Amino acid sequence: MFTRKCEMCGMEFETPSNRAKYCIYCRDKAQAARNRAYAEKKKSGSAVKVGSEQTCPICGKTYTVTSGSQKYCRECTESRKRKKAQPTAEYIKENYDYIRFNVPKGDGDAIKSYAQAQGMTIKQLLLTALEEYKANHGGNVDE
Ligand SMILES: [Zn+2]
Ligand SMILES: [Zn+2]
Repeated sequence: MFTRKCEMCGMEFETPSNRAKYCIYCRDKAQAARNRAYAEKKKSGSAVKVGSEQTCPICGKTYTVTSGSQKYCRECTESRKRKKAQPTAEYIKENYDYIRFNVPKGDGDAIKSYAQAQGMTIKQLLLTALEEYKANHGGNVDE
């Protein structure tokens, strides 16, 4: 048995461990205090304080927290939002048909520059051309 002096109350006590810091009365309190400190640390770690400085996990820049749920700097939050707003490959697959075709070598650029001259993309040009063709030739699928 070792005789140790309690770091909490200063009382001498006997213990089988030479590393014991607290008497049996204070040991529970010490454990309770440690638990409390741990719980507080855990709480403050998960919820960021508004106005505190945080490091952005995406770009590594330091930013000031403006809301409790903020996890990234403003730029990264914005770009994540933008990314979310874009349709996913799945959404596109479900809502759009993909038409792909070949044109003779060199015609691609010619079509592209013609479309640009009309202020349209190739897609817009083709769809517009289709509408005009239908208007002139009839033959709507519904008819
Ligand atoms: Zn004690
Ligand atoms: Zn960032």
